[in-house]
Amino acid sequence: MRTDMCGELDMSDVGREVSLCGWVGRRREHGEHLAFIDLRDHTGVIQCVVDGAHDLRSEFVVRISGTVRHRPEGTTNANLATGEVEVGDCTVEVLSAAEPPPFPVDERIDTDEGVRLRHRYVDLRRDRMQRNLRLRATVNSAIRGAMEEQGFVEIETPMLIASTPEGARDFVVPSRLKPGSFYALPQSPQLFKQLCMVGGIDRYYQIARCLRDEDLRADRQFEFVQLDAEASFASQDEVIEFITHAVAAAVEAATGERPGDVPQMTWHDAMERFGSDKPDIRFGMELVELTAVFVATEFNAFKADCVKGIRVPGGAERTRKQLDDLTDAAKRYGAKGLVWMKVDADGAINSPVAKFLSEDELSGIVAALEAEPGDLVLLVADDRRTVRHVLGLLRLELGRPPVNEGGLRFLWVVDFPLFEGVDDNGSPIPMHHPFTMPHPEDTHLLDGSPDDLQNVRSQAYDLVVNGWELGSGSVRIHRGDLQQRIFGLLGISEEEARAKFGFLLEAFRYGAPPHAGFAFGIDRLVAILAGEENIREVIAFPKTQSGGDPLTEAPTPIDAAQLDELGLRVLPPKA
Ligand code: ASP
Repeated sequence: MRTDMCGELDMSDVGREVSLCGWVGRRREHGEHLAFIDLRDHTGVIQCVVDGAHDLRSEFVVRISGTVRHRPEGTTNANLATGEVEVGDCTVEVLSAAEPPPFPVDERIDTDEGVRLRHRYVDLRRDRMQRNLRLRATVNSAIRGAMEEQGFVEIETPMLIASTPEGARDFVVPSRLKPGSFYALPQSPQLFKQLCMVGGIDRYYQIARCLRDEDLRADRQFEFVQLDAEASFASQDEVIEFITHAVAAAVEAATGERPGDVPQMTWHDAMERFGSDKPDIRFGMELVELTAVFVATEFNAFKADCVKGIRVPGGAERTRKQLDDLTDAAKRYGAKGLVWMKVDADGAINSPVAKFLSEDELSGIVAALEAEPGDLVLLVADDRRTVRHVLGLLRLELGRPPVNEGGLRFLWVVDFPLFEGVDDNGSPIPMHHPFTMPHPEDTHLLDGSPDDLQNVRSQAYDLVVNGWELGSGSVRIHRGDLQQRIFGLLGISEEEARAKFGFLLEAFRYGAPPHAGFAFGIDRLVAILAGEENIREVIAFPKTQSGGDPLTEAPTPIDAAQLDELGLRVLPPKA
């Protein structure tokens, strides 16, 4: 139907007869018999000069044939790729009429997201969505290429499965053939990829869809897509290399530039220096240890397990009101209070608590934080966890650049703890998942006290970019005895383990290679690359914050016959 794409015509096409197809964008009528029409397809727009009366309205789908010509002197448009040319002597064929669109496609008008999603097919015509979805395809293709280059084989794992424990709530699907029984939709392909390793696949990958029934956020949907990978006879460092290569290929395909080496940081250092296991290293403002400065302090508020501070360069200009707001924020995050100090022009410390501190303490703070005149210093004293948490959040609030500034700063966080706290029954909770191999130097602690257990490191690692957790992975347990032992520590009885993961334990009896793997979120990576704060902007048909799809109206009730067939009855909603 067409000879060319709208956005690709330029001076080299002048004189050619072309046929173009697309949507009618902006129109300018000149009297009754002449109209300038911007014809749009996904490559861009071209101005068409249409003679004669045509009832062409916005978003009509048309085929326009005509001759490419140079635009008259003074009417070229430098902001448009095709701005030097236009199509004249046009004949127009309407392929599809259109009702007025629910929102203009060609103007940068902020449209309510609900309306955009309700008419997503119109929204998809806009530049932003076209750019984002095509970027996503580029990223997927680069990732596939990079994984295949490294010997990974794409294997599809099932969607209807028994539950995989990633720590979230399952989406379940009722079975018609076995009424009263349910499939779970995969929270990840975790167990299947491990079975692939037992099956000799050696290196597996999949651009996998994962489903988790969790509250939705800017960086979280019920269903998301991840690059999922697993490799046999591979160490943590090798997996890190495979994944770094895939991410670098994706970034290069998207931006034209390959990211530099990705540094590694232990979980412990990340927590101490940034108060977060996903540090945004685009900016400094690190947490500085001050506990030693206050070992003999007379100031009660600083007689604490841990004291740390951050320096806000130039922050001394903040008003009392702003400082009160920061204090409120610190309390909301869990601190008992926040101590602020301004460094005056002459180097003197200006703070409501200065009078309670000794000269040594004051100079100790300034020295440790390398504070300079004009700076603001914020201190929190509490138990170590609280101090890290609160200052980590304040640091982000005060220093975090917008999503599209400061470049892409990737970071591997390694040596995560095996467990994070304990559940209501006093059993430790796995930090990653129950299949993660303990750190070889810490296995002796597995027999120790609850405190010892909290100090066991694991061979788990996360990839972080600009403060977003992009993905996680680990070296896996590949021996049934150790896996049973970890299940035991987690409070999973032998019976329960057999019922839930018996197939995995059984597989391990038949020759399981050592293996390790990783998964990273493609929605998040593409959002970062597109400079979008919200992953919904890089998903063709996302759910709203409340989990609905305004376009198809899912989720919807099902009819009685369908319920009957499934052996289900719906109870009235709980009050
Ligand atoms: N299954 C894990 C996840 O989806 C990733 C991994 O350990 O490979 O988070």
